[in-house]
Amino acid sequence: MFRIGIGSDTHRLVSGRPLVLGGVRIPFELGSEGHSDGDALTHAIADAILGALCEGDIGRHFPDNDQQWKNAASLKLLGRVLWLAKERGYEINNVDATVMLERPKLRDYIAAMRENLARALNVEMGCVSVKAKTGEGMDAVGRGEAVMAQAIVLLQTRSC
Ligand SMILES: [Zn+2]
Repeated sequence: MFRIGIGSDTHRLVSGRPLVLGGVRIPFELGSEGHSDGDALTHAIADAILGALCEGDIGRHFPDNDQQWKNAASLKLLGRVLWLAKERGYEINNVDATVMLERPKLRDYIAAMRENLARALNVEMGCVSVKAKTGEGMDAVGRGEAVMAQAIVLLQTRSC
């Protein structure tokens, strides 16, 4: 049995915050504003898994006012979401995600992101796709004010 889910996330880019995507710290003068580490890519994937399970979104599971998740590594949060899926008898079939960021170029970091996410999701790297796009100079992404991510995930009933 399969279940599909979609997730998206946006964070404002501000100074004095790290830029973390897929658990990879990317050197840049701006970073994601947010309660946790602001990892939009990991949040979008977590939301997609929760969506596939009809379990709401990460705001419901990891509220802003919960000190436990202040500056937390979002890969840890993703691990919790995966645990929830496992409790329900599901594992990840595959994930496809897109990060939208004007600067810096993400090409050199994609493999490390996929590796981190695959490890957190307990799948092969070949089951996790990460793509990067810019905003072509338009909208909040294009003006360099925000980082956005979209993800889609397919869950399948665990084979054993
Ligand atoms: Zn987020």
